[in-house]
Amino acid sequence: MPAHQLPAEGRVFLVGAGPGDPGLITLRGVECLRRCDVVLYDYLVNPRILRHAPPHAERVCLGRHGRDRIMPQQEINDRMVADARVGRTVVRLKGGDPAIFGRVAEEVQALREAGIPYEIVPGITAALAAGSHAGIAVTDRDLASAVALVTGHQQEDEEAGPELEYTALAAFPGTLVFYMGVTMAESWSRALIAAGKDSATPVAIVRRCTWPDQETIACTLGTVAEEIARRKLRPPAIVIVGPVSQARVVSWFEERPLFGQTVLVTRPGEQGEEMADRLHELGATALLQPAIVIGEPDDWGPVDAALARLADFDWIVFSSANGVQYFMDRLLSRHGDVRKLGPVRLAAIGPRTAESLADYLLKSDATPPEEFRAESLAAELVAQAAGRRFLLIRASRGREVLAESLTAAGASVTQVVAYSSQDVAAPDPEIATALEEGRIDWVTVTSSAIARSLVNLFGENLRKAKLASISPVTSDTLREFGYSPAAEAKSYTIEGLIEAIYSS
Ligand code: SAH
Repeated sequence: MPAHQLPAEGRVFLVGAGPGDPGLITLRGVECLRRCDVVLYDYLVNPRILRHAPPHAERVCLGRHGRDRIMPQQEINDRMVADARVGRTVVRLKGGDPAIFGRVAEEVQALREAGIPYEIVPGITAALAAGSHAGIAVTDRDLASAVALVTGHQQEDEEAGPELEYTALAAFPGTLVFYMGVTMAESWSRALIAAGKDSATPVAIVRRCTWPDQETIACTLGTVAEEIARRKLRPPAIVIVGPVSQARVVSWFEERPLFGQTVLVTRPGEQGEEMADRLHELGATALLQPAIVIGEPDDWGPVDAALARLADFDWIVFSSANGVQYFMDRLLSRHGDVRKLGPVRLAAIGPRTAESLADYLLKSDATPPEEFRAESLAAELVAQAAGRRFLLIRASRGREVLAESLTAAGASVTQVVAYSSQDVAAPDPEIATALEEGRIDWVTVTSSAIARSLVNLFGENLRKAKLASISPVTSDTLREFGYSPAAEAKSYTIEGLIEAIYSS
């Protein structure tokens, strides 16, 4: 072993995952996740954060109150120690900050006793995130020069610490922020008032802060328990007590254009993830139900044959980003490098496909400026098509418009299937139920193939949501099945589709 190489040794990272939004974890937290072998995570942690962990990493949820078995603290400690002892890198992912009402001390003690190396990575605690995302400055310079983080003493919750001194709390010269304050609101609010705190003190309840369904409710110390009971509010919520709650400005978070909307993303794989991220940024709850799966073609033969005689073509035409990816990956893995393309010209059906070419350091020689469909690309190419040889890269199914127009214009056209596109056989049952119960506002339909598959997957339940179509061609397919889109993109791109949703 070279001198600089440390022995392989298991260790534990106690990482704060932040309040919910997957972007609100620290860079150090992500670094730890990237190299871990196992993640032990609390139920309040957003599962999307787990995508930073490598595929091989074991993901263990420690259970949810009232739903599954909760792993007892002793078992969590034992599990961390046991995993680290066999040389695994463990991330113990905790909601918010690991040390704020998070029992970090017990976990640290267990690790120290076992002689396991560990590191604590702080996180954004719920009180601070509630402030930033609900528009409350918890130490507004005119209203509060101190903040206290207080447990609301949920009876059944073991996190609760020693008995609270309400007289001291009532006299505290600043903002009080209650964690775990929902179930026992009646008892702590009454105790504070009995200890001399004005019942008219402004209060803000911030439920599920930083999640797309965040709710903020303004009330007073005297009405907070009643408000929680009347609205049947469930944890997690933060309750901010003090004049800063009244000075609340409108929340930038709740003002985002798609806040409160639930949108179903039906594109496959990474494209679906990208679209969900964009929707999420605009405030929507984005759910994923790919309607089709993209994969390798059944037979690479025709692609390989075309790649072996690229000099015979004047143009290669790509009608999707997937086509670029599958074709170029095949070229690079089996046929050399990009020099293989030589002087051939490249055409892309739209800006997104051109971007995919750019990922391979290639520039499209023809991309229709806006329109994202075969007719526009055909129009661009037809003028120079006569006598030229075109290689069309396509999916296992798709439209024939391009091939037909080019052939009619006197070109010789070879088509090869570079990837397969298949319908997904059955929907995720949770998504199907959400649609049926009317909990999905929009279903996005980004191609005719997706439209067909969605009709098979959901049938009549598709009428329970509004349909957003990416183009007139896709809208026509929907209409053929008897569904009319509630919104249609003006520019036939994902951004155009999202714009159509929020302007309708
Ligand atoms: N370590 C966590 C707190 C764990 S105790 C932290 O630093 O945030 C659990 C309590 O945290 C919940 O009962 C609730 O009061 C609060 N909480 C956690 N996430 C929250 C969220 N997204 N919105 C509102 N409150 C939250």
